[in-house]
Amino acid sequence: MPYDETAMLRQCHPMFKSVLLRILADLRNQGWQPKIVYVKRTEAEQAEKVKQGYSRTMHSWHLESTIGVLPTVHGGFDIVRGNAADVVDARYGWGGQAARLDFPFWKALGATAKKYGCTWGGEWKSFKDVAHVQMLYIEETPRHQALV
Ligand SMILES: [Zn+2]
Repeated sequence: MPYDETAMLRQCHPMFKSVLLRILADLRNQGWQPKIVYVKRTEAEQAEKVKQGYSRTMHSWHLESTIGVLPTVHGGFDIVRGNAADVVDARYGWGGQAARLDFPFWKALGATAKKYGCTWGGEWKSFKDVAHVQMLYIEETPRHQALV
C-alpha cells in the first residue's frame, strides 16, 4: 500500500495533527524522510503488538478506548485523552541501522518531538519505544461522579 500521510493525519486529534505536521516538517528540514506508520490501532491490533513484544501495554494512546483520570483540586477529576504516532524514516524503517536504539534518526525524532511538546517513547525507562511520540490533552469539563 502506498504511504498516505493524509489518511494517517486524518486519524489524529486536530491539536496533535498540527503538532505532528510541525514535527514532520522540522525532520524533513533536517534531511530525514519521516513516515507515520501508526496512529490508531484497534484493540485486536494492539493485543497482537503486545503478543509480539512490540508493545508492553493495552493502556496505549494508540487506542481510542484509552483514557486517564486526574484528580482536580476541587475533588472532581479530569478525563485525559491522548494521541500517539509511530514515526520511522522511510529509507530505514526499523531494520538495518535503525535496529539500533542509538540510530541518529531516533535521536532526531525524540529531540524534535520534545521541541513541540510531545513525549518520546525513547525516553521510557523499561521499554524504549524509539519510534513513538505522543501527546495527552484535557478538553472536557471536570467530572464529579465516578465513571460507570
Ligand atoms: Zn507507538
